Amino acid sequence: MLDQANIDELRSRAIPEQHNFIDNQFVINPTAKRLAVDSPIDGKVFTSICDSSSEDVDAAVLAARAAFNRGEWSKAAPAYRKKILLKWAEIIEQHAIEIAVLGARDNGTDINTAIKGEPLGAANTLRYYAEAADKLYGEIAPTSDAVLGLIHREAVGVVGLIIPWNFPLMIAAWKLGPALAAGNCVVLKPAETASLTLLRIAELAALAGMPAGVLNVVTGLGRSCGEAIGLHMDIDVLAFTGSGAVGRRLLEYSARSNLKRIYLELGGKSPNIIFADASNLDRVAKETAASIFRNSGQVCVAASRVIVQNSIKAELCEKVLSYARSYRVGDPLSLRNNVGAIANLGQLQVIEDKVQRGIAEGATLALGGKRILADSGGYYFAPTIFVDVEPTMSIACEEIFGPVLAIIGFDTMDEAIEIANSTQYGLSSVVWTSNLTTAHTMIQALQAGVVQVNCFSGADLTVPLGGVKQSGNGSDKSLHGFDKYINVKTAWISLDPN
Ligand code: NAD
Repeated sequence: MLDQANIDELRSRAIPEQHNFIDNQFVINPTAKRLAVDSPIDGKVFTSICDSSSEDVDAAVLAARAAFNRGEWSKAAPAYRKKILLKWAEIIEQHAIEIAVLGARDNGTDINTAIKGEPLGAANTLRYYAEAADKLYGEIAPTSDAVLGLIHREAVGVVGLIIPWNFPLMIAAWKLGPALAAGNCVVLKPAETASLTLLRIAELAALAGMPAGVLNVVTGLGRSCGEAIGLHMDIDVLAFTGSGAVGRRLLEYSARSNLKRIYLELGGKSPNIIFADASNLDRVAKETAASIFRNSGQVCVAASRVIVQNSIKAELCEKVLSYARSYRVGDPLSLRNNVGAIANLGQLQVIEDKVQRGIAEGATLALGGKRILADSGGYYFAPTIFVDVEPTMSIACEEIFGPVLAIIGFDTMDEAIEIANSTQYGLSSVVWTSNLTTAHTMIQALQAGVVQVNCFSGADLTVPLGGVKQSGNGSDKSLHGFDKYINVKTAWISLDPN
């Protein structure tokens, strides 16, 4: 149970300067550049992290490769990896409040969302993959009796993971779970503005008994630490969640180095399509507001474009505005608030710029549109709604990754499909209708990795999350989450004695 006094005690703790976690220990590099870490709650610096150089990344990769080659993790029975991963999940859960407070200080997510999504969500994910570790079999190919065709599933080796700042633990766990359960060793780089909780859970992994070198965390900027991971000659697979711009760079790094496999989970501009026959418009409005204002819209699947049938547009807009006004934005560590801060100053400026472009392009600003609580020194932005948006306007096409909703009208289903599919993205989508034929037609027509009908965020770990078009390749979550981190190897054995 979250308790304000406990949260306040945890937030008052001093955080010492942080170091890379390599070979199960924090490694102090006295010559390393340091990066100050400021809190989006009040803009004040409260600790620092290492800006890792390519030498620091080399040390982490060497540790991971040595651990992989030793085999105590990679060649062990999957049941052994399961045991350690389950223990790790249990320890993370025991430290959930401490971790959630640390995370909120680092990236501004409100404590209620942080605790569920981050330590508890990560523990849940690690358990899912731990449990799967000893239930996945290889295959025997349907050959003639003269041969035996075996298909082995093998760990790929050293996996690089580059993680964004919005839900660092949850997103990392979607990758760490399958990568580690499959027997790989990992070098993980958190976002420079959200590294603290990942360093902390790496320490807890060692406490759970994970062998040295299996999980290594190196911190730093994208252009230093991230680039060194991307260009490294001894990383076999690199899985990334973040922006399309960085995704493109990673593909280039791969081409310039060892052709490591690159998996990308990128941005979105998810459409939320509301037909006039949607039942319970009040619920639709409530979930529409939640989908874009939760965590200040810093959610990859945030439904940032409402595409609503014109006959109900005015009524829907009124209801969404009313729910939007009910959000309490402020200090993420106060239990009174349900929306925290924008994760960092750079992102706040991106949101401000994109909102100004929307105004300049002629969209009607119906709510918000500005930074709030600036006196606190923190990075807060008001829930913002634009109505009468044209599908070609930048606020309708470009990801903002902030609490900004664009509402667009349509008349026919064909028009709704055309607008929904008109961006470069294809991550998630939502459809509200009480007509089964409309629902099925939309599921087939929408260019998206996920289509949710009459619900938002209904998907759990059992189903994949991944995008099409420029939202990425591959997917996290579900048993398909393993695919990125295994090689399939064929053994073809002749049974003919001659
Ligand atoms: P970002 O691309 O700026 O940064 C992501 C990570 O890449 C960080 O760790 C950063 O340090 C690193 N990086 C930056 N430059 C690099 C370089 N040159 N080489 C290597 N690494 C580099 O993204 P962000 O701002 O942290 O996150 C927001 C983006 O992430 C949004 O576009 C959002 O939609 C996307 N996202 C997608 C999903 C998904 O599942 N598809 C989930 C969450 C976030």
